[in-house]
Amino acid sequence: MPPLIDIRGVSKTYETGAFRVEALKNVSLSITAGELVALVGPSGSGKSTLLHIMGFLDRPDAGEYYFAGHPTARLPEGRLAAIRSRLVGFIFQSFHLLKRTSARDNVLLPMVYTGLGTSAGKALDCLRLVGLSDREKHKSNELSGGQCQRVAIARALVNDPLVIMADEPTGNLDAVSRKEVMQAITGLNAAGQTVIIVTHDDEVAAAAGRVVRLKDGEIVSDETRRPPARAGAGTAELPPARLGFSPSEFAEQLRVAFKAIWSHKMRSALTVLGILIGVGAIISLMTISEGFMKDMLSNTSEEDARTIVVSTRYGSGKSPRPVTMADLETVKAGVPLAEKATPVINRVLKVSAAERNTRGSVTTEEGLTPADAAAGRNPLGNLKINGRFFTDGENLARARVAVINESMEKKLFSAGDGLNSEIRINDVAFTVIGVAENKKGEGMVGWPVAYIPFNTAAKRVLGSAKLDQISILAATPGDAPEARVQAINALRAAHRLREDAPDDFDVRTSEAGIKIFKDVMAKLSLVVYSIAGISLLVGGIGIMNIMLVSVTERTREIGLRKALGARNADILIQFLVEAVVLCLIGGGLGIGLGFGLAWGAYFLIKVTPALGAGTIAFAFGFSTFIGVGFGFWPAMRAAMLDPIEALRYE
Ligand code: ADP
Ligand code: MG
Repeated sequence: MPPLIDIRGVSKTYETGAFRVEALKNVSLSITAGELVALVGPSGSGKSTLLHIMGFLDRPDAGEYYFAGHPTARLPEGRLAAIRSRLVGFIFQSFHLLKRTSARDNVLLPMVYTGLGTSAGKALDCLRLVGLSDREKHKSNELSGGQCQRVAIARALVNDPLVIMADEPTGNLDAVSRKEVMQAITGLNAAGQTVIIVTHDDEVAAAAGRVVRLKDGEIVSDETRRPPARAGAGTAELPPARLGFSPSEFAEQLRVAFKAIWSHKMRSALTVLGILIGVGAIISLMTISEGFMKDMLSNTSEEDARTIVVSTRYGSGKSPRPVTMADLETVKAGVPLAEKATPVINRVLKVSAAERNTRGSVTTEEGLTPADAAAGRNPLGNLKINGRFFTDGENLARARVAVINESMEKKLFSAGDGLNSEIRINDVAFTVIGVAENKKGEGMVGWPVAYIPFNTAAKRVLGSAKLDQISILAATPGDAPEARVQAINALRAAHRLREDAPDDFDVRTSEAGIKIFKDVMAKLSLVVYSIAGISLLVGGIGIMNIMLVSVTERTREIGLRKALGARNADILIQFLVEAVVLCLIGGGLGIGLGFGLAWGAYFLIKVTPALGAGTIAFAFGFSTFIGVGFGFWPAMRAAMLDPIEALRYE
């Protein structure tokens, strides 16, 4: 019968600073399947070291270890984890149960790391085997020491290991519990289970069929009292390294993450705050600026898209050349694509009513043609008008009629009282014949506007025909760019500009205006996003800090999980999941905060917040990114922990 465990000339030396401890010196030992072997010897003789090597928790410095017929020296981490998971059941002196976790869930834990799914029925079977079927739901802190150790035995059994290894399993127990635990162990062995047990309890050793005595890292005696009750096969296939993650493992990782977060509520809340504020800032800015953009763009009608504006060019160094009526004639004659060209005066003037006055924009129009009126058009991008717009006849007659916007009405009258009232512009009396809805931009800042006929403005209000703008309406929006080129050429010719001289006027399509608007918004956003980014960076550092604390606090738990078969990757992902869950909580609350802030802003500046799916996806994506980015280093530290050192961590 080949041995299940065959150790040949194994040595292990610990070096701590100046000290050198030869924990194992050239030890050879073979154990057959079905044996119950007691490793005894004084404290410090190397028993635990030998057991850890046999249990794949540690590697020897020299010598060979054949397990189930296979050499194991060159197995990679993933294979070792698979062997710990499937072939070895380890029991520790101090139980190492998961805190505040039920007996059943503790027993289920090794199944999580097989990747084959968990079976509550199997866990219950194992609890029954150690006499604890009635304690399934009890948490580790609700069980006695002996019961805890029996849960740990059930946990060691749950994956049907080839061998159970126990390191002083009765060391922390009273006499009664010791008996219970030993009964459980000898019972298992009687059923054929191979057991290796480290002890310095003579009673325990007496129960073993074979006693191996160590002293100073060497085997000094090896005594078989009786052969195994049932000898098993000494060879088995070693399981392959596990790839990927099973659903039950992912569920476990989520459960552990939430538990860790929930059991430190205050700390988690403070950590989440940084992410919450950062994401909240970004979301509020995104929704406000997107809403602003949407409002502005929804305000541009087809007519706006057809409009080209000629205006005075400022800032060229030379004194600016005003736009004149002569330019209007040039445009009318020289731009065939123009449906019409109109002069515009646009000034900020004093406007008063009986008791109140204000400063606001006074803008001119040439009035509706009978055809416009018949088609129900108005020159304000079809905003609703209470009353009517003035006609081209009134323009020719220099009539003193005005259309005011709601903001102007609000400044000068009580709401609804504006229509048919009298206002004075530069001390010229006008009758209000229409009150128009605010354009979006005007509404945001409450900007007052009055529209009056061009001829009335030129002849009666200002006494001059100096223009501020010429407004050209192209036949279609598609004609606007070409019409703009025609206007430029006509004006350059009329102004007799040399080929290399720059334009002495400005010609803009609304598209160009929108582009400028978007550019400004983009620059503004960049500034604001960098500030929000800094806040997220600070939040991320908070996450990293708390994750490092969490890893340190749970060092022993990490060691335990590894001893039960968790791979480095399993530990890495577990802590990444925790960091990401923290960030997603922050991100989710941040979306709420940001949207709340954006609605608060709505009441101040009347921009309807636009919360798109893109914004939400961005916030969650970004939170995940921060979680992974800042959680990676702490998670990596956890993953790289040595199982035995982690288990020993105080
Ligand atoms: P036992 O279990 O028989 O009491 P151990 O196998 O735990 O003995 O330890 C054997 C020797 O190795 C002891 O002298 C101990 O101090 C030393 N030793 C064990 N683990 C370490 C370690 N991680 N670092 C340094 N020395 C160690
Ligand atoms: Mg020991």
